[in-house]
This record gives sequence, structure tokens and C-alpha cells, in this order.
Amino acid sequence: MHDIEALFEAMRNAIPAGPVKIKEAVDSGKKVVGCYCAFTPYEVIRAAGAIPVSLCSTSDKPIAAGEEHLPRNLCPLIKSSYGFALTDTCPYFHFCDMVIGETTCDGKKKMYELLDRLRPTHVMQLPQTYFGVDALNVWQAEIESLARKLETALGVTITEDDLSREIKRRNEERRVMEDFYELSKLNPPLLSGQELHLVNEFFKISFGDPRALDMIRELRTKLQENWEAGERRVSAGKQRIVVTGCPTGKSLEKVFSAIEENGGVIVAFENCGGIKPNYEMVNEALPPYEALAVKYLGIPCSCMSPNPKRLDLLETLVDEYKANGVVDIILQACHTYNVESFLVRERITAQGGKGVSYISVETDYSQNDVEQLSTRMGAFMEMIA
Ligand code: SF4
Ligand code: SF4
Repeated sequence: MHDIEALFEAMRNAIPAGPVKIKEAVDSGKKVVGCYCAFTPYEVIRAAGAIPVSLCSTSDKPIAAGEEHLPRNLCPLIKSSYGFALTDTCPYFHFCDMVIGETTCDGKKKMYELLDRLRPTHVMQLPQTYFGVDALNVWQAEIESLARKLETALGVTITEDDLSREIKRRNEERRVMEDFYELSKLNPPLLSGQELHLVNEFFKISFGDPRALDMIRELRTKLQENWEAGERRVSAGKQRIVVTGCPTGKSLEKVFSAIEENGGVIVAFENCGGIKPNYEMVNEALPPYEALAVKYLGIPCSCMSPNPKRLDLLETLVDEYKANGVVDIILQACHTYNVESFLVRERITAQGGKGVSYISVETDYSQNDVEQLSTRMGAFMEMIA
């Protein structure tokens, strides 16, 4: 088998095997901490000797169970997260000792109050702005308080050296992903958006394993070598699309297919699960708690008000990846991303001189709108062309 296909296949197979790795770690005495959000400072959890895991939240299967306790008109991500926990069908939740949440959007922070009944849940009080020294001080205090909580819960001590070590380690992981994303800047990009999404999902279950990072590096090298030798995995002339909006995941792959089966190619995922959490490093020259506070408070999530960093990031991505379209994915009942879509449209189409088009799609985790998505994306690609 072609080296590249073998690497993709190995990544594809590694994703369902992730829970086995976690079970083995638990059997060997490791502690596991569940997370839902890009604001969670993985470095602090790792400095406590535990494994941070991203909990299941992107399937529609457990939503009906979630709706037994939660209102139906809530974002599917929240209902799915809670439903998975309630039905004990997320293997990562099953093995986790505690959960870390953050006060991001209203639905999520209220859901954590119920989740705490199923697993001890520590909620970090996230400021709603990344501007000003007061917000930064509050967030630094929250990160320090998380460290104390983990020390008590897990019976460990977290030193500043532990934190500095984990900051370097996580930064290296971010660099590996940043380097990988560069491949899509070429024309045509070296891989499809669906393949890029697979690598993002693989990274999510790599649990800091250096061998997984080596696989991503190796894939990058092979793709580059093949491109230089003339191989084109993506045909020329496709519309180059940046995807933004709510976090990506399994149930939203229907949107990626709709884009790529109708003449587009996704060159960047700005969302959580893609570039948003990885594009800024933690400053290794600053004291560790301060450095973590600066990095994590700066994540341009729509929960922040105002949120110009997201617009700036999108504009940069559109330029760097030479995109001619932006697709904004909004989960039903996600008010923050939904309202912010006005500003995103305004900023993106203000780049109209560069021929950049914008479309927002409101969807949920069901597959009922697959055909409609395909029709809309087909029309969007035709409009861009
Ligand atoms: S979009 Fe915001 S709330 Fe959702 S995972 Fe990302 S940072 Fe967290
Ligand atoms: S998608 Fe929107 S509503 Fe859903 S959890 Fe994220 S920020 Fe909250």
C-alpha cells in the first residue's frame, strides 16, 4: 500500500482504539481528567500526572437521553455531551476521575451543574472578555485554583518546573499541527479537507504520545515529497474554503462532504478541533501560570464579547490559505456563534475585492439535511466560480 494511504489508514484505525489506550493507562494507575473545551489548560492536568481526554460530544445518538433532563431547544453539542455521560456510552467519560468545565456559553455552564452529579466537575470561571488586566488576573487565579483542586483530588503536588515542562511539550504538539496545516497553503493543497479533519481527530486522541506526533510528521514529509514529485491528491481549480463556526466533529462531516463533493476543497478549519486552539503558543519566557492565562484567555471563542480576534484570525487565514470562500457552521440554538455570524459575514465580504464569498449553515447532528446541504454547497461553489 502507498505509504500515505497506510498512514491515513493507521490514523483511521487509531481513533476507535483510543479508549483501549486509556483503559490500559487506568489499569496501570494513571488518572484521567475529562475535558470539553479549548479553554481547558491541558498543561496543568498533565503537570498533575493525569491524562486530559476530550469527551464525546459530537454524535446525535445520546441526544434523546440528554433531552430527558435538558430542554430540547438547546445546542446539540451540549445535549450530546450530557447524553453520553448519562448513558455511560462515552468510554472516556467512563474512565475519567473528574471533569473540567468552563463558564463559556449559558447552556454549557448550566449543564455542568447536572454533570457534577455523574462525575465530580470542576468549573473554571471564565471571564467573558480577553481585554484588560482584570480579566487576565481572574483567569490566572482560576488556573492556579484548578492546579490546587487537582493536587487535592489526585494527591499530587504541581511545581512550576512541572508546568514549564508540560508547556514545552504541548507547544511542540501545537507546532507539529501548525506545520501540518501549512500543507494546505499550497495550490492545489496537498490533501483534502476531509483528510485534514482525520488528522485533527487523530491528534485529539494522541494523548501526547510522541509516536503519534511522529506519524503526523511522517505524513507531512511524505505528502510533501509526493507533491514535489508531481503527485496531486486534490485536483486543481477547486474552490478553496475556510471552515469556521462551532466546533467540528463526527456529525458535522456531512458539511465537509457537501463542500468537497460539490467542487470545493477545505484548506483550513478555523474552528475548535482545528486551528483556533493551536495557532498561538504559550510564551515559555513568562512565569508559567501567567503564560497559561495569556494563552488560554486569548482563544477567540464567540463566548467572548467583543471577539475581534476571531475576525482577525479569519482574515489572516483567508489571506494565507488563499481562500475564496468561508463556510460558517452554526449549531442550532448556539446563540453566540449565530449572532456573531453577522460580523463574520461583514468582515469576509468586505474582502470582496479579493473575491471572497461567505455562507452560513445552521445545522444539528442529525443527517436529515444532507441533501439540502449538498444543494446549498453546490449553489455556493457555483456562485464563487
Ligand atoms: S467554541 Fe468556545 S466553547 Fe466551544 S469548544 Fe471552542 S472554545 Fe470551547
Ligand atoms: S456550540 Fe455554541 S451553544 Fe454549543 S456548546 Fe459551543 S458555544 Fe455553546
